[in-house]
Order: sequence, then structure tokens, then C-alpha cells
Amino acid sequence: MPAFYSQSESSEISDSLEEVQVGMVSRLCAALFPPVCVFCGRILLKEKDDAAAFFSKKLQICRNCLAILPLRFPEERRISCLSNPYEGDSAPDMQVLVPFRYEDPIVQALRAVKFHDAPYIGITLSFFMSEALLAEASHFDAVIPVPLSSQRRKKRGYNQAELLAEPLARRMNVPYVPAFLIRSRHTRQQSRFSDPILRSVNICDAFSVPDEFDLEGLSILLVDDVTTTGSTLHEAAVTLYRKGAGYVAGIVAASGRM
Ligand SMILES: [Zn+2]
Repeated sequence: MPAFYSQSESSEISDSLEEVQVGMVSRLCAALFPPVCVFCGRILLKEKDDAAAFFSKKLQICRNCLAILPLRFPEERRISCLSNPYEGDSAPDMQVLVPFRYEDPIVQALRAVKFHDAPYIGITLSFFMSEALLAEASHFDAVIPVPLSSQRRKKRGYNQAELLAEPLARRMNVPYVPAFLIRSRHTRQQSRFSDPILRSVNICDAFSVPDEFDLEGLSILLVDDVTTTGSTLHEAAVTLYRKGAGYVAGIVAASGRM
């Protein structure tokens, strides 16, 4: 740096040089790797319309995919947790909020989240989950992802429910507390069973709350990617109620149930 610059001037110049360099690098990256739609993979075009620009810029959804998203109508978003309710259920009123029908491109996106560790898709899907929640105006004290067994988590390397729950909790400004619930027993994958009774048996007593946590009176939101018979969310909720939770509801990205 030439001697006729003072120290503060030279640091300002080096700061602005750095800014220029960072700007150049990000423009170069954008040119080499332009942002693509999280659903169809096509390059995102500049949108003039405000709504289309928001979804393109903030959520990486192209105009075409936005038009075909299988969003449920508000009156179809709330379903009873169990598809096959039974006598003596200890959480008979449990509700699950579902923003999407189980159709493409959501099915493909959920597969990517589940099998290919795609946090950016988790952020996009969780936006629609949080919008559905905001419309309900419910209050929660904690957000918990449905946990995987340590064996399955180790094999997969992550838990897909966490990829949805963490950004959802952040957007809702509710504490994200995955430690409240653990999978204490390894179970076979629920998708192996089509019979709701077999699913219930498979998941029975699979969860527990570590002794150090007191859930007395807490209002808890359980998060998962999809729900079919509701057995997994229901079992997790029953476990939380046994430990004193005051209210438990579920939210998933999609379900084939109405
Ligand atoms: Zn698209």
C-alpha cells in the first residue's frame, strides 16, 4: 500500500477492495452455478411479478412448479392423527396439520429430503408448513422432530424430520428441542407394513423422554415428513403426554389422507 495513505484510509480501501472481490466472486459463482428450482432443477429466471420473484428468490421455486404445487385448501389441512381410531386411545383428539397432498412434485422433494440429505428443500417445504401453522394461530413451547433410532440415524447420517423441524422452529420463533424425545428402541420401517394395527404394534414403546426433562404443561409440536396411518406421531405424542406434556399436535409436509 503506498505510504501517502493513513492507516485508517488504507484499512477502508482494503475493506472496499474486499467487498469488490466478494461481489465479483459471488457474481462469478452465480454465472457458473445459477440458482435452480428445488423441484424441477431448471434455472430460475428473473421474475417481474412480486409474488413470483419472492418464491423464486427466497424459496427457489420456479413459476411452473409454483403453479402445480399440490397445496391443500385451508379446510383440508387439519386431519385426525390416527387413520384407524380405537377404543381407549389415550390421545384421541390429536390433530395433525398438513399443507400438501401427497403428490408430485412434493413426493419427489420428500424423497430427496429423506434419502439425499437436501437441507435446501427442507427449508422450502418448512416455509409452507409454517404458513399453515401461522394461519392456525396456535401457540407452542417447543418443536420436536420425530426421532430416528441411533442405528438408523448413523446409517443415514441425518434425520429428515430435523431438516424440516429446525427451519420451521426458527421461522415460528419457537424453541427447537430435539433432545426432549429419543427413539429408545429400533423398529422396522413403518412403510413395510400396510396394516395400521401392525404399524401400531411395530412402533409401540419406541420413544422415551430422557429423565432430566420436565415437560409439565408444555405445548409441543411434533414434526415429521409424511404421515400415513399416524401411528408414529401418535406413539410419540402418547410418550410426551406420559411425561406431563399439556398439549401435543403434529405437523407433516404431506399426507395422502384427507
Ligand atoms: Zn420448478
